[in-house]
Amino acid sequence: MLNMDKLFPPESMTVLIVDDTRANILVLQRALTNNGYNISVAFDGEMALDLTPKLKPDLILLDVMMPGLNGFEVCKLLKDNPEVSDIPVIFITAMGMPKDVLAGFESGAVDYITKPFNLQEVCARVKTHLTLSAAIKKLIQDSETDSLTGLFNRRTLFKKIEHEALRFKRNEKPFSLLFADIDFFKKINDTYGHAAGDDVLINISNILNTEKREVDQVGRWGGEEFLLLLPETNIEGAVQHGNKIRELISAKPIIHEEQEINITMSFGVSEYTKDINIEKIIDQADQRLYLAKNSGRNKVVSEDA
Ligand code: GH3
Ligand code: MG
Ligand code: MG
Repeated sequence: MLNMDKLFPPESMTVLIVDDTRANILVLQRALTNNGYNISVAFDGEMALDLTPKLKPDLILLDVMMPGLNGFEVCKLLKDNPEVSDIPVIFITAMGMPKDVLAGFESGAVDYITKPFNLQEVCARVKTHLTLSAAIKKLIQDSETDSLTGLFNRRTLFKKIEHEALRFKRNEKPFSLLFADIDFFKKINDTYGHAAGDDVLINISNILNTEKREVDQVGRWGGEEFLLLLPETNIEGAVQHGNKIRELISAKPIIHEEQEINITMSFGVSEYTKDINIEKIIDQADQRLYLAKNSGRNKVVSEDA
């Protein structure tokens, strides 16, 4: 049995309580604090809408009857904002008619508690929904990333390239792909061991991540091959970025257990244009990487043979 408290400790969770009645807030705040959660409060709907994107709470306990926006309206607005729409909302309200409960779920809530409430039950429901939501988030993250390096995996990168190609259809802004492959990596494993090889992969990932612009996407395409998606970058820009990383990596050895491991990388670059499909530019960059390998390695190639 998984220990959920250990996986998702209450101390790492924040619950936002939204209620216009201070006495309700105090009671809920005390009980949830005793259970280990961090608590924030909002006294009306507007304040909740303002606070939520800034605070990014892990769960929201929402009253329905409040001056100004009512809870159902607040919940709908939260669910319309992709930045916060994943945050689970539980209504906690005196409105207990079946049609009210239904309206609560229809506005996007995950649960509905009626007043007068039982505090232990509130805490149990909060815990259930926090655990479910954190578990879903973790599953999604795990399915999108590579476990060794934490970078995006191939499937996620492919989706991001598809998304960028759709954007190109609208604004015709160029984007480029940069394949990067460690030279003679097999030899590194053979010489220093598999753990050293893993350490090199992690180090290279960190360099690729640190050197990228905010809009760039970096992922692990396969074993020791990485792919960078560079939005709003033409082929010259991608070559420049490739050379910058190439020089950085070859200039300084990676240290693994006090051993210096010298690394070089080869790069293949392609640019997305009107008449090309995604598979084709991936293939083009891959072919150019192959050319870089066959013409001496430690270089960036942006043209076909
Ligand atoms: P080239 O310069 O032509 O790219 O040669 P290479 O040795 O880098 O390429 P090759 O494809 O022959 O070998 C890649 C090696 O990468 C073989 C494989 O065992 C190793 N590898 C793949 N994934 C991992 C990993 O997660 N960890 C470690 N340590 N090694 C890995
Ligand atoms: Mg290699
Ligand atoms: Mg390879």
